[in-house]
Amino acid sequence: MLRLTNVGFGYPNGATPLRDISFSLEPGSLTFLTGPSGSGKSTLLQLCYGREKPSCGQVIVLGSDLARAGDGTLSKLRQRIGTIFQNPQFAGHLSVFDNVALPLRLAGHKAAEYAKDVHELVTWAGLGPKVHEPATSLSAGEKQRLAVARAVAAKPDLLLADEPLSGLDDDAGSRMMRLLLNIHRFGTTVLIASRVRHETAKAADRELRLLEGCISETESSR
Ligand code: ADP
Repeated sequence: MLRLTNVGFGYPNGATPLRDISFSLEPGSLTFLTGPSGSGKSTLLQLCYGREKPSCGQVIVLGSDLARAGDGTLSKLRQRIGTIFQNPQFAGHLSVFDNVALPLRLAGHKAAEYAKDVHELVTWAGLGPKVHEPATSLSAGEKQRLAVARAVAAKPDLLLADEPLSGLDDDAGSRMMRLLLNIHRFGTTVLIASRVRHETAKAADRELRLLEGCISETESSR
């Protein structure tokens, strides 16, 4: 599903958050990537999505070496990867429904094919009463849940979530975790970058701890 081998990465300003990263994710697994702020979690997720290229080593996602993938391959791969990155941007003038439907529309699907699924997804994310409201009218917690619904609309094989609980209170955070666990139960491989492994997900398959550019691993006690 995802394999990194001896990956290093440095920014042009000299910051080298990733030195020697090797791990792989099995299909259908749920993994926490933890580490202090500034340890390189977001950078690692950006590499997994092909937004940055490693300075050394190899990133294989869904069977493709991202450093060698051309634009066409990369855009096809990205259709199979859902992302919840920080500060998600929405088409503010569009409704909750249309924001969730956008990835499907862009992939060429017709409204008649996806309308029922999108309604179900919006309800699942707890946004049923807001389905026709513009995205701009949502609270921070609701926006995070909209980001989740949008990320999984196209039924991705892999979901990358960067600090999905940031800015949420305990209740909203637990609700968000339950959504992510739900996605995992339906078979999607989930990688969650977070400063700490959330209480609700103590039984996650694995914790990869990122520190000083390297990974150490903690298996679940399950
Ligand atoms: P985390 O997600 O764990 O908080 P980041 O991946 O955001 O960590 O950042 C890791 C390091 O890389 C930090 O030292 C940060 O300042 C630096 N960094 C992140 N993004 C950039 C960037 N676009 N340009 C230069 N340095 C960056």
